[in-house]
Amino acid sequence: MVLEKLSDSLKSTLQKITSSLFVDEKLINELVKDIQRALLQADVNVQMVFDITKKIKERALKETEPSTISKKENLIRIVYDELVNFLGGPGSKMEIKGKKPFKIMLVGLFGSGKTTLTGKLARFYKTRGNKVAIIQTDTWRPAAYEQLKQLSEKANVDFFGDKKEKNPLKIYKTYKKELDKYDIVIIDTAGRDALSDELIDELDKLHKEVQANEKLLVISADIGQAAEKQAKAFHESCSVTGVVINKLDGTAKGGGALIACSVTGAPVKFIGVGEKIADLEEFKPEGFVGRLLGMGDLEALLEKAREAMTEEEAEDMGKKFLKGEYNLIDLYEQMSAMKKMGSLSKLMEMIPGLGQLKIPKEALEVQEGMLEKWRFAMNSMTKEELEDPGIMDGPRVQRIASGSGLSVSDVRSLIKQYRQSKKLVKMMKGGGEKNMEKMMKRMSGGGMKF
Ligand code: GDP
Ligand code: MG
Repeated sequence: MVLEKLSDSLKSTLQKITSSLFVDEKLINELVKDIQRALLQADVNVQMVFDITKKIKERALKETEPSTISKKENLIRIVYDELVNFLGGPGSKMEIKGKKPFKIMLVGLFGSGKTTLTGKLARFYKTRGNKVAIIQTDTWRPAAYEQLKQLSEKANVDFFGDKKEKNPLKIYKTYKKELDKYDIVIIDTAGRDALSDELIDELDKLHKEVQANEKLLVISADIGQAAEKQAKAFHESCSVTGVVINKLDGTAKGGGALIACSVTGAPVKFIGVGEKIADLEEFKPEGFVGRLLGMGDLEALLEKAREAMTEEEAEDMGKKFLKGEYNLIDLYEQMSAMKKMGSLSKLMEMIPGLGQLKIPKEALEVQEGMLEKWRFAMNSMTKEELEDPGIMDGPRVQRIASGSGLSVSDVRSLIKQYRQSKKLVKMMKGGGEKNMEKMMKRMSGGGMKF
């Protein structure tokens, strides 16, 4: 995994909490010192290390823990929370939306990994069902054209470029019309050894023509905390919309680069974790910190802390559900929440008029395993599929199955469950209690555990 050293020291720090007898000021001080040491070793800027640990200490001393978890667990949760905050807060991923094509322009210094990233992003979006094109506008490096052309073959996307043309703007203009036919266009650009006025000018001219939806700054993780200066400079002079940090696989300084960028106001959107075309991850601070601290245990802990759901929340959710205007994401959330509440019957009781219905017991238990499968399948779906499962067809199901590691019949049955639940809601709205009971019975008998 990336940042192995930082991860190891943070994990052993947390272990100390677990094995201590109780939480007191001495333990908190020790914890804070350990975290400081770990972050400094990962090349996080001293001031930031101080800020993070100050927050952790303040909260640890002041806060009373939620009723569902212990003092120790709460301490771990605070560490997690504050690290997530420093990496930009609970994540919002890059959304592909608006008029097509969605254009992503990559900028950065020589060797930061722009061209490699162009290939990686192309593959990333292509495998999610988009029609992708990439274009080379780097006219500085003689080999840039061939390098990207080869990557386009690996990613199986269309490639545009002109080996002989020296003006990046002209290259883009030549293919502009053709590029309009794609869902996503990724534009590779030339770098320099340092951010110069001349580079800013070149990128400005190109951007005026391209009008990219996202202008991503590409940074190499091995520069550590110096990433802050670079991110700031590019942010101010080229107004980037986000950052990609590459080569996180090969350096212990990556923690510094990650945290430094997050505070410049240009959020980290992806990380590069290797030289191969598939070595790319969408950056989500929560997941990242979770893995850094040892996810398995942590997830269970955070889940427990969130457990305390109020009756009001439950009622709101039930109402939303009954409107029938929900997609796969909503349904998944409903089911997770029901699981959290113990059972659907509790939820039913809170919705006027539904409490008296006789619903088979098996139909009311949300299965853990099923939710897992939902989650895997949904991770492999495109945004359109999640929002409008009506478009699901054979090839899509096949793709989702191979992407998620589930069988085709698993994916089919999940979609079937979604459709059946829609029907069920329609019946509820129609008020036919008899029909509704019949439907519930049929679903629970037919393998639908809900
Ligand atoms: P550019 O000058 O910004 O276009 O950079 P390139 O894409 O040509 O990459 C420069 C070097 O960094 C190449 O040798 C790449 O293989 C390597 N590289 C790019 N991304 C990564 C990464 O995430 N991890 C590692 N280890 N190497 C990378
Ligand atoms: Mg390049």
